[in-house]
Amino acid sequence: MLVTTSTASQPALSAAELIAVALNARDRAYAPYSHYHVGAAVLTADGSVIVGCNVENAAYPSTICAERVAITAAIAQGQRDFVAIAVATENGGSPCGACRQVMAELGPNMTVYIADADGNYRTTSVRALLPDSFMPEHLV
Ligand SMILES: [Zn+2]
Repeated sequence: MLVTTSTASQPALSAAELIAVALNARDRAYAPYSHYHVGAAVLTADGSVIVGCNVENAAYPSTICAERVAITAAIAQGQRDFVAIAVATENGGSPCGACRQVMAELGPNMTVYIADADGNYRTTSVRALLPDSFMPEHLV
C-alpha cells in the first residue's frame, strides 16, 4: 500500500503521524500463532509512506516481520531513499535481528521510532540498533 502524504511544498510527516500509520497497519497483522501484532510504516524522501504488518505462517520460518514487509514493499514500488521507520507493537518491542540487518543495508540513515499500542514511543537509529553490521562492502 502506497500512501502519498506530502509534496515538496508540504512538511514531512511528524513522528506521531508516522506512528499513527504504523498503528493502523498493526490492525491488519496476521498473527494467529504469536498473537503479537506489529505494524510498520516507512517514510521515504519524497514523502511517501509504505506500510507493513507481520504475516505469520503455520510453517513458522515462513513468517515475515512488519518492518521487512514495509521495506521490501517499498523497494518493489521503486523507493530506495528511506528517511524513517515507525514500528508499533503492543508493548514497544524492538525490531528483531533480521529486520535490523535489512534496515542496515537498505536504510542505514533512517530514524527509527519504536511505539507501543498507546502511541508512546522512543526514537533511535539503525546504527544504534545494529552497530558494526555486515554490509555489502564486506562481500569482496
Ligand atoms: Zn523482524
